[in-house]
Amino acid sequence: MHGLMMNEPLRIAGLLQHAAKWHADTEIVTRLTEGGIHRYTYHAAHQRAKQLANALTELGVQNGDRIGTLAWNNHRHFELYYGVSGIGAVCHTINPRLFAEQLIYIINHAADRFIFFDLTFLPLVEKLAPHCPKVEGWVLLTDRAHMPEASALPDIRCYEDLLAAHRTEFEWPTFDENTASSLCYTSGTTDQPKGVLYSHRSTVLHSYAAGLPDCFNCSARDVILPVVPMFHVNAWGIPYLAPMIGCKLVLPGPGLDAASLFELFENEGVTFSAGVPTIWLGLLTFMREKKARFRTLTKMIVGGASCPPALLKAFDEELGVSIRHAWGMSETSPLGTVNTPKSNQLQLSPDEQFAISTKQGRSIFGIDMKIVDDEGRELPHDGTAFGDLLVRGPFVAGGYYESDNRAQFTPDGWFRTGDVATIDADGFMNITDRSKDVIKSGGEWISSIDLENLAVAHPGVAEAAVIGLPHPKWSERPLLVVVRKPEAQVSKEELLDFFEGKVAHWWKPDAVEFVDQLPHTATGKLLKTKLRQDFAGYEFP
Ligand code: ADP
Repeated sequence: MHGLMMNEPLRIAGLLQHAAKWHADTEIVTRLTEGGIHRYTYHAAHQRAKQLANALTELGVQNGDRIGTLAWNNHRHFELYYGVSGIGAVCHTINPRLFAEQLIYIINHAADRFIFFDLTFLPLVEKLAPHCPKVEGWVLLTDRAHMPEASALPDIRCYEDLLAAHRTEFEWPTFDENTASSLCYTSGTTDQPKGVLYSHRSTVLHSYAAGLPDCFNCSARDVILPVVPMFHVNAWGIPYLAPMIGCKLVLPGPGLDAASLFELFENEGVTFSAGVPTIWLGLLTFMREKKARFRTLTKMIVGGASCPPALLKAFDEELGVSIRHAWGMSETSPLGTVNTPKSNQLQLSPDEQFAISTKQGRSIFGIDMKIVDDEGRELPHDGTAFGDLLVRGPFVAGGYYESDNRAQFTPDGWFRTGDVATIDADGFMNITDRSKDVIKSGGEWISSIDLENLAVAHPGVAEAAVIGLPHPKWSERPLLVVVRKPEAQVSKEELLDFFEGKVAHWWKPDAVEFVDQLPHTATGKLLKTKLRQDFAGYEFP
């Protein structure tokens, strides 16, 4: 027997419709790629999303067609999120930081019909276009005044002209909530990029989850600034969450340096922000140098890569920002776990509580998880046993776009994350490694992340990476690769001694190498595949 409730499909357009009706005057503020600040309201954003919907319809865009974007976090990109998905087409956010070959692969694989791009990416687009024959049109996200006088790419369209030619009247169509809404390729840290195809249903459910008190804990009274890019995993869902709860949204455009971010935080009264550790490390250094303090920022999420415990401590204790560690991936939309204490932990000592807060956190409703051994047997939740982390749920990918690669999907409906983790008795998950990065020494596993976290706790270390390299006796042994802080004199011996007594003796790296910088992926994560190539043939002393 069916329930007797209205069968209203969950749709992305509904989120903006809601904000335009009930939070009509709430602002969306953007730092423009062209320079300067742009501000308008949810009402105005909705009007323009409807103009875009009319424009796309006139261009012949059909249900299911992919429309690419190469853009910063800005109001026009926000309009694309709604205008494209709202008509039943697929908003394919493309990560401009990927290599040109990867971008060409992704655009051709997705068969994008049109691509909307920011001014910054004009030179990139000029390079890509000849290799992307399926793209029918390139639209520059700017006004007439900023259109290039000459370009290697003929017939670039102007976004503002496109919108101006269309009416604001538009009825968002109704369709099945499982309709595809957006597409994001994983950055391919370990493999070729794979397309994760989100649906209206998965996106709206993920937004509900993201707003919960033990997740982002945001409300209509908040001002949210996503530093995480809208071109990778939908800025962790914030462009959908903000209209759902009706809060002010601040979009930093290309200004991702600490000074520009701090200026926006202060000028716009930002209360909540989300970003990867690298961004927050930069901001912390800036805040220390300037002896600056935040006026309104009180809540922050760090995730996307393992967060050094020292960073959590510094934001919390020095800067008074309650910072939460979170874990997720493109395939989980991306939120999987967030770290907030349970009530039984409030009695613990501050040190004990802090130790728990460095873990990746507890599963949010919508994400079930387990850890398994090599044979697929479930491991205990004792905080020590570590194994492959598997997840499932209504906003977890069930397959990849146009791919019959099922290697990451188990026959009984779980997704293999490629991460290796422990889960403790309270359900707190702790990533110990990516399965491809785990160091297998003499048949035992060593967590490269634990070693990295220890290394960056040394005052002379700016950044550290640990990789497993072939070893004649132990099959693999850890090498510590370090970027020293500018004036630091720390020696290799000193660093190795630093591990003494802090880890099992056989976990201690066999050697240290100093480098000027470490390779990162497009999303700021350590690129260990590159590091392993760099040190191929390395011989331990
Ligand atoms: P990719 O890097 O393959 O494109 P994503 O951008 O989706 O994929 O990143 C997901 C991966 O990032 C996770 O599988 C995990 O390895 C890593 N990750 C995300 N958050 C954290 C975290 N808080 N701590 C450690 N690793 C994390």
